[in-house]
Amino acid sequence: MENIASAKAVKELCERYGFAFSKSLGQNFLINPSVCPRIAELGGAEGANVLEIGPGFGVLTRELARRARRVLAIEIDQAVLPVLDETLAGLDNVRVLHGDALKLDLAQLLREEFGDAPAVVCANLPYYVTSPMIMSLLEQRLPIEAVTVMVQKEAALRLCAQMGTRACGAVTAAVRYYSEPRILFQVSRGSFLPPPKVDSCVIRLDLRKEPGPQAADEALLFRLIRAAFSQRRKTLANPVSTGLSLPKETVLAALSDLGLSSSARAEELTLAQFAALSDRLGGQTHE
Ligand code: SAM
Repeated sequence: MENIASAKAVKELCERYGFAFSKSLGQNFLINPSVCPRIAELGGAEGANVLEIGPGFGVLTRELARRARRVLAIEIDQAVLPVLDETLAGLDNVRVLHGDALKLDLAQLLREEFGDAPAVVCANLPYYVTSPMIMSLLEQRLPIEAVTVMVQKEAALRLCAQMGTRACGAVTAAVRYYSEPRILFQVSRGSFLPPPKVDSCVIRLDLRKEPGPQAADEALLFRLIRAAFSQRRKTLANPVSTGLSLPKETVLAALSDLGLSSSARAEELTLAQFAALSDRLGGQTHE
């Protein structure tokens, strides 16, 4: 098929293969022909090894394959596989793998597919797993240089927020720990079939070679961040003392040692301040 980035082409494929969109799998397929080339170009697919999550009918996969060295595309829905056989026919640098990207051993798959060479991730992510998928890609310390993905606009604003602003949350801190995030461009809901209820954004996360402000105990840092943001509008001391099973006085003393106010809230702290607080509280948690 010449062009599959159109409502007409996607509807025609649905009809011919008896395919029905699954809401629970986050199936909103791109029909705006200008979006996929931009994701491929801004995502660094040129000459790269690319991991795609959720190829759907292959509209982005084709743009990636035209530019990339190799593409590994992981798709959970068996029903799209025969369609991909048709839409990706003749592209011999693409491997489609049937499976759940959250459950597969990505480190091993990347090694099998790309050897020791690094990869980039490009995807129009299923919205129901945006955060777990991004966190899974970041936390596993895979040989990945950048993650360029379409997410709902609201998620993009949260994922790419600056620390110390009202828009940030626990996931913002985690993303900033591992990467430098930025919003690339906005995509209207009319660019998808079926159209979702909200607009979307393509974001790019450039992975740091070394994670951001180092804390002695990374697991404690993330427990602290989750506890702090669990009641984001409240002062830090209560949720942190509950979340880390520490006396409130200990938390207040640590805040004071770091020159932070006893009424500080999670959204006011920088990542470096969270790391310092984590180090200050380290060794004082009751496991
Ligand atoms: N890339 C296509 C496009 O842009 O038109 C489809 C994008 S659609 C938003 C998300 C795709 O991810 C669907 O094809 C869906 O079946 C697939 N998917 C959902 N959950 C998945 C998972 N856990 N692992 C792999 N693929 C998944």
